[in-house]
Amino acid sequence: KPIAIITIGMAGAGKSTFVQRINSYLHSHSEPPQSGSEDPKVKTRPPYIVNLDPAVTNVSFEANIDIRDTVNYQEVMKQYNLGPNGGILTTLNLFTTKFDQVLGLVEKRAAEVDYIILDTPGQIEIFTWSASGAIITDAIASSLPTVVAYVIDTPRTTAPATFMSNMLYACSILYKTKLPFILVFNKTDVQTHDFALEWMQDFEEFQAALASHGGTRDAEGEPTYMNSLMNSMSLVLDEFYKHLKAVGVSSVTGQGVKEFFEAVEASREEYEKEYLPELERTR
Ligand code: GDP
Repeated sequence: KPIAIITIGMAGAGKSTFVQRINSYLHSHSEPPQSGSEDPKVKTRPPYIVNLDPAVTNVSFEANIDIRDTVNYQEVMKQYNLGPNGGILTTLNLFTTKFDQVLGLVEKRAAEVDYIILDTPGQIEIFTWSASGAIITDAIASSLPTVVAYVIDTPRTTAPATFMSNMLYACSILYKTKLPFILVFNKTDVQTHDFALEWMQDFEEFQAALASHGGTRDAEGEPTYMNSLMNSMSLVLDEFYKHLKAVGVSSVTGQGVKEFFEAVEASREEYEKEYLPELERTR
C-alpha cells in the first residue's frame, strides 16, 4: 500500500520547494538501485501528487490531481465577493465535496505508486483549522497509511521564543490529526538544525538558551512571567517531542531527503501500530 504524505507549513517555510524536491528525488531515483547500498525500505517510484492549493501560481511539478483544474479560485472570489483567504477556503470547501472522487482515483493507482504527496494551501490555517482540511485529512488517513510532514523555516526559528511558538503550533496539529508526524527542518543549507535537536533532546539546554536571550530576571532577580511560562511550556513540549521524528533537509540542495523518506517509512509502522487500531476502535 502507498503512504500519503500531507505537507503542511507556514507561508515561506519552503513547502512548495520541498514538494518539488521530494518529487524530483523520487523521479530521479526511479531506476532500480545499482549498488546494494540503497535502503531497500525506501521505495523510489514516481509519486502521485495532489495539489490542494488553489492560489499557487508557478508549480514546476505536474500534479496528478489539481484543485485548480476543478475550481477556479479567481472566479470564486468574484462570484461570492470574497477576499483571497475567503476565496481559498471556499474553493477548498467546494473541492472537498468531491473528495470521494479524488480518493477513488488515488485508490485506482495504489498498485503503481509508493507515495502520495498532498500539497496544502500556503496559508497554513486554511487547511489546519477548517472543516475541509479535517475532512480531507480524515478521508485520506482512513483509507491509506498517512503521515504529516510539517515544514519549518529553520533559519527563522533560531530564537527560543519563536522556536517554541512554532513547536506549539506543530503540537496543535498533531493533537488535531493524531497522525504520525515528521518535523522537517528545511533550509539546512543556510542554518543547520542541530540547535533544534539539542533543544528537543534536553529541555535544560532550551532553558539555558532562553536565559541567554536576556530578560530572564526582573529587577528583583525573580524570573519574569514570560520566562517562567516558557520554562513550564518547555516541559510540556518535552513530552510532545517524544512522539515525533525530526529531520533536517535542504530543499535547494537535496541534502537530507533520503533521511526524510526513511522517517516516512518508519511512520508507516507507527500508523499501523497506533493510528489504525484507534481508528478501528472509534468506528
Ligand atoms: P512556501 O510558501 O512554504 O511554499 O515557500 P516556498 O517554497 O515558496 O519558498 C519560500 C522561499 O524560501 C523561496 O524564496 C525559496 O527559494 C526559499 N527556500 C525554500 N527551501 C529552501 C532551502 O532549502 N534553502 C534555501 N536556502 N532556501 C529555500
